[in-house]
Amino acid sequence: MKLEGKIALVTGGSRGIGFATCKKLASEGATIIITDICDEEKAAPAIKELEEMGAKAKFYKSDVSNFESAQETVNAVIKDFGGLDILVNNAGIVRDMLMVKMTEADFDAVINVNLKGTYNMMKATYKHFMKQRSGRIISLASVVGIMGNAGQANYSASKAGIIGLTKSVAKELGGRNVTVNAIAPGYIATDMTDQLSDKAKDMISSGIPMKRAGSPEDVANAICFLASDDASYITGEVLRVDGGMAM
Ligand code: NAD
Repeated sequence: MKLEGKIALVTGGSRGIGFATCKKLASEGATIIITDICDEEKAAPAIKELEEMGAKAKFYKSDVSNFESAQETVNAVIKDFGGLDILVNNAGIVRDMLMVKMTEADFDAVINVNLKGTYNMMKATYKHFMKQRSGRIISLASVVGIMGNAGQANYSASKAGIIGLTKSVAKELGGRNVTVNAIAPGYIATDMTDQLSDKAKDMISSGIPMKRAGSPEDVANAICFLASDDASYITGEVLRVDGGMAM
């Protein structure tokens, strides 16, 4: 129980990598706050499963791309639970297409959720972590933020931006005992990647040294490590969880 007594907030935590992270953090004793843009009924099965594991869990509907919504949610969590120890910036979207077809709206939509959303949550929790003199911020980047990808100019730019944000805020908050790290997953089997054709899935998998897609649990395990005391001297790091894809 490495996270006993800790309060963890996972954005976009009702499914996929976010939900696997909630379960992993809960299994280590953390209280779980799921925030998501989806309605409460959609997140209800996730909350129920966490409660059945014996965890304390609560859902707040919140849009990371809207700063007021992010700040209101963070304030409510700190008031309701008496603190916040771990922030996982997981909420993200894709709008894949070649740049020749990409509109300004396609670019802005992805930047606003992935990059601005991560900034909003960091900004909304910054003073709390600063005053508390402890905390963990873990944000979901991507290997394409490191190596780029045809058809994902908007998404790759948003994820590269998250890496820059992570390293900058790590430098700002290091002296306050707050670690700030990013995870760069490769190809992970979730709803986000399920829209790919079987042919595309096989092609991507064959290019991965470990020859398979990762699972949400593979990513959740790395997030839980960075959230724990085992990683207390690791900050500003970008940890690839990609089966060697971006090696
Ligand atoms: P997913 O689509 O299964 O889940 C994303 C969650 O984010 C959903 O619950 C969704 O409702 C929520 N969300 C979307 N917009 C939101 C907003 N504005 N405010 C709050 N919540 C919002 O995705 P996933 O595959 O589990 O990915 C999770 C994270 O990991 C994302 O940041 C994604 O970019 C990143 N990632 C995924 C992969 C992959 O292969 N699946 C690879 C690299 C990085």
